[in-house]
Amino acid sequence: RAETAPETLTDGFHLLIDALKLNGIETIYNVPGIPITDLGRYAQAQGMRVISFRHEQHAGYAASVAGFLTKMPGVCMTVSAPGFLNGVTALANATTNCWPMILISGSSEREIVDLAQGDYEEMDQLAMARPFCKAAYRLNYAQDIGIAVARAIRSAVSGRPGGVYLDIPGAMLGQIMDGEEGKKSLVKVIDPAPRQTPSKESVARAVNVLKEAKRPLIVIGKGAAYDQSDDVIKELVEKSGLPFLPMSMAKGILPDTHPQCAAAARSLVLKESDAVIMMGARINWLLSHGKGMQWGEPGSKKFIQIDIDPEEMDSNVEIAAPLVGDVGSCAQALIDALESEGIAPPKDWLDQVNTKATANMEKMANKLQNNNDPMDYFAALGVIKEAVNKRPETILVNEGANTLDMCRSIVNIHKPRHRIDVGTWGVMGIGMGAAVAAAVETGKQVLAVEGDSAFGFCGMEIETICRYKLPVCIVIFNNNGIYRGDGENWGGGDDPATTVFVEDSRYDMMMEAFGGVGVWAKNPDELRQAIEEALASGKPTLINAAIDPAAGKESGNIGNLNPSSVVAQA
Ligand code: ADP
Repeated sequence: RAETAPETLTDGFHLLIDALKLNGIETIYNVPGIPITDLGRYAQAQGMRVISFRHEQHAGYAASVAGFLTKMPGVCMTVSAPGFLNGVTALANATTNCWPMILISGSSEREIVDLAQGDYEEMDQLAMARPFCKAAYRLNYAQDIGIAVARAIRSAVSGRPGGVYLDIPGAMLGQIMDGEEGKKSLVKVIDPAPRQTPSKESVARAVNVLKEAKRPLIVIGKGAAYDQSDDVIKELVEKSGLPFLPMSMAKGILPDTHPQCAAAARSLVLKESDAVIMMGARINWLLSHGKGMQWGEPGSKKFIQIDIDPEEMDSNVEIAAPLVGDVGSCAQALIDALESEGIAPPKDWLDQVNTKATANMEKMANKLQNNNDPMDYFAALGVIKEAVNKRPETILVNEGANTLDMCRSIVNIHKPRHRIDVGTWGVMGIGMGAAVAAAVETGKQVLAVEGDSAFGFCGMEIETICRYKLPVCIVIFNNNGIYRGDGENWGGGDDPATTVFVEDSRYDMMMEAFGGVGVWAKNPDELRQAIEEALASGKPTLINAAIDPAAGKESGNIGNLNPSSVVAQA
């Protein structure tokens, strides 16, 4: 144990912890095991918050969400080989989402691994990690910990943020160094993600596009949410008077109830706009690659794109005015230029958008009030919407298929970075990791709205939520299956259909098993009361909301991505 080591010495364990702390990293998301068990214990002893999960993937998702929320890399620590691989899923997801995270994994004896002599959990982890992250480094010597941690942090947050892998052979942790020398070897990163202002020419180009436009639109993405330039973005939107469309995790930078929010008129603005400012949002599959019917006549619009990564430009469609820089600096440059040009807000266009949005919202409002038995998605989401409106500080975590798609459009978000969901991959199973990180990093109440299938990928982490007594209320939309709960076995045999689960599964009883509050809610009133109690008390709660098994569409809003078999149809 460290206490018995001579005072003048330090070692790899302590240098790694000191290096993280020196750089303001106070929390580790881990799963203990050889060779990092003591690392977690020492980190806790040194005053770090160590949140131990039941499975590395969720510790990794938590770290990535911590990165999104704080602009500092979230740190996930895992054991070697299988634990490492479980963490890599989250590392790749972080990189895909452009969120900073560092995966630190213990690894086996280098000499044995390199000769493939069959060590305990042998794997060349460094090579495996590389394709899934921005950078990957191995630490062979304790004296390199300082510089390696500094470099890892800088790699994760600079430019387009992403995941970084740090490989720590177990033996390195035990290497000793003189204490003073060790201290001197640590490096505090200076300005790891420098602000990046756009060039004057690029701003002028963008302003020219806007000058000619009659129906401009701003699309705000999670890169903008990450940038934390909330006030500047608000100023740009309000001074320009343009309608804005928030991508799902950009909801709340400006409240969804803002008079310029075009979320409820999405189809109209995508189709009819003639100039689009993409602000920290990629033109990827989530936006139909900027092509097709959804975007109106081909060639009918010009794109201005704000992105920290120059290579993002022209990825799918021509970008008439690339603005390379951070969202805050680019938005500020646009505000200044628009003011000096005196461009007036396009009032008629905004009125047209508002009329459509209001009509769509009115149509939806009635559906949300229904009392159908069994409960449908609309009624359940009406209750969730009310709860978040009442407590706008609540962070909403959301995943599923129908549960995700409908919740995203129905439930208003009022504050920046208060919605965390499946991100760029549309991945299932992020829910519990995200909920833990949101609660740990912000201290706020979390409401996780989960499809029953999505919950299945991460459900064991409710034990983690109960163990750390986190203010997390999970609502499972339980319709007994994937997409729907009424599927049939196409072969007609005794096995259940591939997409159904045990009918009326009592997920609420799982929560009770860990000392949390469990509620089985069968109608909107029961759901409302259970959520109210959970959010008022802050107690770990799981509400098993029984949803009509016949409700729900195949793959939610993205059923068109399913290939279909011509042979089977014939
Ligand atoms: P969404 O899914 O919300 O549409 P994406 O994840 O597709 O958003 O896009 C986020 C974009 O934001 C990425 O292209 C990324 O390079 C960019 N980005 C990340 N951080 C910043 C920043 N601070 N300033 C500008 N762009 C950023």
